[in-house]
Amino acid sequence: MDNLATRTDTGWRLPALPNLHSHAFQRAMAGMAERRTDPADSFWTWRETMYRFAGRMTPETMQAVAAQLYVEMLEAGYGSVCEFQYVHHQPDGTPYDDPAAMSLALVEAARETGIRMTLLPVLYMTGGFDGRPLGERQARFGHDVERYLRLLEQLRALEAPDLQAGACFHSLRAVPEPAMREVLAAIPESMPVHIHIAEQIGEVQDSLALRDARPVEWLYDNFDVDARWALVHATHLTEEETRRIAASKATVVLCPTTEANLGDGLFPLRDYLDAGGRWGIGSDSHISVSPVEELRWLEYGQRLMTRRRNIAVGASESVGETLLQGALADKPAITGIDSSGDWIELDPKTPTLAGATTDLVDRWIFSGNRNAVDTVQVGGQRLVVEGRHRNRDAIAARYQAAIHQLLA
Ligand SMILES: [Zn+2]
Repeated sequence: MDNLATRTDTGWRLPALPNLHSHAFQRAMAGMAERRTDPADSFWTWRETMYRFAGRMTPETMQAVAAQLYVEMLEAGYGSVCEFQYVHHQPDGTPYDDPAAMSLALVEAARETGIRMTLLPVLYMTGGFDGRPLGERQARFGHDVERYLRLLEQLRALEAPDLQAGACFHSLRAVPEPAMREVLAAIPESMPVHIHIAEQIGEVQDSLALRDARPVEWLYDNFDVDARWALVHATHLTEEETRRIAASKATVVLCPTTEANLGDGLFPLRDYLDAGGRWGIGSDSHISVSPVEELRWLEYGQRLMTRRRNIAVGASESVGETLLQGALADKPAITGIDSSGDWIELDPKTPTLAGATTDLVDRWIFSGNRNAVDTVQVGGQRLVVEGRHRNRDAIAARYQAAIHQLLA
């Protein structure tokens, strides 16, 4: 394996990381669903808080929240983001005058911060595997296929090296099979396709009950899943499903801090690595915005589960390097973005990196909590210098105002 880190005159240089899964608006509610409301608190009770926030977003607050989030991502070492955007319409479900208003708010937030974006407008049609209509609080999310394809077309017209569009199904429970087929037939063959899958046991049970197959099993039985597919979470897998995903060259998008926060479960990482599977990371709900924490907890979850150490090895005997290599490799098929010239630099004066040599990446991923990212360059632009994004203060002030508005 090539050395991932190179020493320059000013620091340790590494490729910028891709963040493969984000719902930007959820940054506004991070830390606000941590009180017990019900002894059986679960993903589904968290979702109630999420719906309340989704219900209050406007294009203006969406941009303010997303810009703050993207500043935090860049300062943490992410250079690009896949934005899984499902809050499309006004609260009663009426489209905005410009039906892309919410998506365009995210595009503006990306532009003002300099992060590269794969914009994934989400198709969301039903409230469950049984095809029930969307609930009242899901009215902002819904499209029929025709209007969805029109939105996708509108966003594709904006494509540039730092902005790509992709297709996105919310989940198997939210998009009926014929609609998936229609969308896939209408989009270019190389366009990325993202979907949430097998995140919750309840979802696996519903799929078994109504389709007589587990979600990943059903997807692979019915669709030609290949390298342009990003399967978000894929937490609950059989050995056979694990092997099928790996063989298809699809990417599993793991979001360890969100999956821990929501009590989802643990992905079978060792089996998947043994099968040669592709994977990457996302910060999803933004309970944490740090590639260090995602990669650290990806490994720690496995250690806690197996009561062993040093699970994620393969690309190297170093866990940190194997994790970082996985998070960086093979992403253009699912992002549409070439970020090969983007880099970050770690500050060599960070105490936890003192005297680092070949163990640099392990030290970065596993020691301490101080952010070591000093400089971030994306698309030739120096966006973060001395740990601070160039527009940090103005964007933070606008974010404060937006939060007060959302909580009022
Ligand atoms: Zn998600």
